[in-house]
Amino acid sequence: MDETDDRTDDAILKHLAGLRAADLPVHGGRTMAYVYDAGLDGLDDLAASAQAAFAGVNGLDMTAFPSVVALENDVVGRAAAVLGGGPRTAGTFTSGGTESCLLAVLTAREHARRTRGVTAPEIVLPVTAHAAFHKAAALFGLTVVSVPVDPETFRVRAEDMTAVIGPRTALVVVSAPSYAHGVLDPVAEVARAAAERGTLCHVDACIGGWYLAHRRLADDTPPPPAFDLAVPGVTSLSVDLHKYGYTPKGASVLLFRDAELRRHGWFAHASWPGYPVVNATLQGTKSAGPLAAAWAVLRRVGADGYTDLSRRVHAATVRLVEGIGRIDGLRVLGAPEASLVAVASADPALDPFVVADEMRLLGWYLQPQPAFGGSPSNVHLTVTAAVADPDRIDELLAHLADAVTRARAYGPTVVDPGLVELAAALDPDALGPDEVALALQLAGVGPGGALPDRMAPVLAVLQALPPRLTERLLPEVISRMYVSAPA
Ligand SMILES: *Cc1c(COP(=O)(O)O)cnc(C)c1O
Repeated sequence: MDETDDRTDDAILKHLAGLRAADLPVHGGRTMAYVYDAGLDGLDDLAASAQAAFAGVNGLDMTAFPSVVALENDVVGRAAAVLGGGPRTAGTFTSGGTESCLLAVLTAREHARRTRGVTAPEIVLPVTAHAAFHKAAALFGLTVVSVPVDPETFRVRAEDMTAVIGPRTALVVVSAPSYAHGVLDPVAEVARAAAERGTLCHVDACIGGWYLAHRRLADDTPPPPAFDLAVPGVTSLSVDLHKYGYTPKGASVLLFRDAELRRHGWFAHASWPGYPVVNATLQGTKSAGPLAAAWAVLRRVGADGYTDLSRRVHAATVRLVEGIGRIDGLRVLGAPEASLVAVASADPALDPFVVADEMRLLGWYLQPQPAFGGSPSNVHLTVTAAVADPDRIDELLAHLADAVTRARAYGPTVVDPGLVELAAALDPDALGPDEVALALQLAGVGPGGALPDRMAPVLAVLQALPPRLTERLLPEVISRMYVSAPA
């Protein structure tokens, strides 16, 4: 905390604005991950007013704050209406995609235990499934059954999923689309197989669901394959409003086939001397701010507005993919069906992470995705409406071509093979503080967690390490960024 004693509103807000200056921009479309900008005038102001008006309202007790129920019914109803829901569809508004996925898994675990007596539950995940499902498995004690994907399309094969569904399977997950490659798993085939075996099937449409559902409403864009609750066998679906709903952060919807399924994930407690508890989500006290903001944005943009935004994002994505195809040395992974593009190198002399560094210097943030499970190292681009004008895409492509030229001149990052060999021999669980410090130093992370300007060399090292070692080291890097005692 800054110890100056200026406690005026101006000084406080100026300090906050100063901190923001070091962040990536959240508007303008140049930050192509993490942030979603509709580029619509006044939308953020409306959302901020709605958020402020409800910031103190507590969703913990919906009997005391009936506004929360009214807003949630509206928001869930709108999601159900565009995502194949019917009269029995039930839903929950959550704080984000991770919470929606966690609750889907928790619900399935409890459903399997209560209805089928499953005590050692498994969850079937394509390797491309979002990390949130691994988090859920770790938190809720499910065993992950991992299924490889087709190395060309990056879609899981339905028969590979079907082959591993067994009596202990609590949940089968498919992505529509996947985060890493923006492709849709074969939802209908997998959901049918799951239903035939009496297990639940979740569609993770967190990132692309809102976009695809509205693109489907436009008659001049290619309709996506069926992916939502209307598909037989699909029992739940997650969709994030804080992605292509362009609402403030903290907004996602988890839809269920019916309330009878949804109830398995709820927590009720009357065995303590305090207030009786019914929690539909993982939070207790829960600000209604994000819900009110989401409701306001949904109302303002409307189905026609989202359809128009989706149409523009689609055209921009097509233009981007075609343009990347013309840049020598780059290639798009798979055939993106939504608005997410993964760009790899077609030339060993060109390192995609160096391209990301060069783009950063040109004012664009592209997200590095390390090699994993048959997917080579690449950079991820999320196309949002703010970058969807043809001239903005052309500017992006021109900078990308420049970045490729510069990255070739810089050369690919190389990792010392001796280092990799050494790392492979380490037992991540047995590493003490000194070994961790040494490993981080070798990876190029400075004291205090300081990251270098160029991330490519660090990413190259992390990518070359066994994932379990990386999982041991990454929290250490982050941990070093925080002070260990209040100043
Ligand atoms: C973003 C995302 C999630 C997790 O959502 P958060 O809102 O970041 O918690 C889950 N699945 C997919 C496919 C996503 O893109």
